[in-house]
Amino acid sequence: MRIAVVGGGISGLVTVYRLRQALGASADLTLIEGRARLGGVLRTGSVGGEPVDLGAEAFVGRRPEVPALLRELGLADQLVHPVGLRPLVWAGGRPHPLPQRTLMGIPSGPETVAELLDPETVARIAGEPTRPLTWRPGGDTDVYSLVADRFGAQTVARSVDPLLGGVYAGTARSIGIRAALPALAAALDRGATSLTAAVSAILPPPSDAPVFGALRDGYEALIRALAEQAAAVTVRDTGVDALRRVPGGWRVDPVGEFDAVVLATPAPVTARLLAEVAPAAARAAAGIELSSSALVVLELPKDTALPQNSGVLVATGEPLRAKAFTLSSRKWPHLAARDTAVVRVSFGRFGDNTTTALSDTDLLAAATADLATVTGATITPLSAMVQRWPGGLAQYAPGHTERVADIEAGLAGFDDLAVTGAYLNGVGVPACVASATAAAHRIAAACAEARPSAGAPGPNH
Ligand SMILES: Cc1cc2nc3c(=O)[nH]c(=O)nc-3n(C[C@H](O)[C@H](O)[C@H](O)COP(=O)(O)OP(=O)(O)OC[C@H]3O[C@@H](n4cnc5c(N)ncnc54)[C@H](O)[C@@H]3O)c2cc1C
Repeated sequence: MRIAVVGGGISGLVTVYRLRQALGASADLTLIEGRARLGGVLRTGSVGGEPVDLGAEAFVGRRPEVPALLRELGLADQLVHPVGLRPLVWAGGRPHPLPQRTLMGIPSGPETVAELLDPETVARIAGEPTRPLTWRPGGDTDVYSLVADRFGAQTVARSVDPLLGGVYAGTARSIGIRAALPALAAALDRGATSLTAAVSAILPPPSDAPVFGALRDGYEALIRALAEQAAAVTVRDTGVDALRRVPGGWRVDPVGEFDAVVLATPAPVTARLLAEVAPAAARAAAGIELSSSALVVLELPKDTALPQNSGVLVATGEPLRAKAFTLSSRKWPHLAARDTAVVRVSFGRFGDNTTTALSDTDLLAAATADLATVTGATITPLSAMVQRWPGGLAQYAPGHTERVADIEAGLAGFDDLAVTGAYLNGVGVPACVASATAAAHRIAAACAEARPSAGAPGPNH
């Protein structure tokens, strides 16, 4: 069996690694990547001579996939956790503590947001449980429509948008309830009588377990280990531009013919590659939009007077260009130990043109000025890097779960073709690991079925 995995981001790398595990050393695996570099939107750069992630910097620590993968790969000693400082929200021209006991910023009651929101909004949240709630079981809507109606637009701007801006580079208007907050949709389906009741019912009990984990040497350590242990033929700088059915398998242009293929490419590329062979799946994938973002990593003198917080998120409508600041040297112990301070400044939400309108010089100037505004500190960068991520994050818009179901239904007839990626069942790295593992198992199972018949004794034996 010759198997091609198209796309060398974390989804493609985990797929090819899992295929190697399942099929053994003799399996003929090819990883095809459009760029010179593997990792996709995971990239580790060098700041002050030390590794710093320029894309994703963390993963949700409560999900098991990444710690398990690190252990398997012999990288358990790479796992680090944040110090435990809380972030701030910049709203109304000043910092506030980020509310606790919320679901993606949706409060479980008025107390949690009393400091952040004006008294009218807090009173509206307090009265919400007594207002009749209309929800069609199985239905979907954007986060803004539900939360602004129940808790007021200020709750969205100050508490929800800052978190959605981080996870999806999206806003409450571009993200749907059912795909992004499935537990909330399920609680509403079960008949929760208010948004307060639904959120309160599903919040996990308070826990001291770290919410996030990261790799001490950055995601590059994971990318390198996956590539090494997958031991696939790796074709770089080669964008796949067509996928065609041929007798016994697939033609993957311009690379060659394969018995089975996994597409680990972003949704629009996957849509183009599936257009001829699975048009319904291609149409569904084409409906998934992407947002663009950019990151400025600042290296600062160690004594820069940054607040004792893990970061600062920016509410919608504030006169700043940055949407978030990760005070990396405050957040992570391994970065705190270095000789200089590191701050990651993020730009770009779905639907805005911040990243395209600003040159690298403008982004750097905006990062420095906005960081000075939110911290009150004098910001004198020792060095800086700008990393752009055009189309880096999929938007889980209302109807996303149906689009994903349509993609899966459109591919159900093929046991030698699978898709994986951040646009399917979660944008985070743990979800990508899970999605890739499922795609690899599907293809490995098809290979296992094909193998006995190929090697079975013929009628003359
Ligand atoms: C700025 C930013 C910060 C993030 N922060 C976090 C975080 O802290 N925690 C977290 O869990 N997640 C985070 N994420 C999300 C997470 O990093 C991504 O969702 C995940 O890495 C996507 O992996 P992927 O392999 O599915 O897609 P990608 O990384 O996009 O990989 C797809 C690959 O396909 C290649 N490709 C495209 N077209 C072709 C073609 N025609 N032929 C061959 N190859 C092709 C691309 O070059 C790319 O390498 C962040 C994302 C961004 C953009």
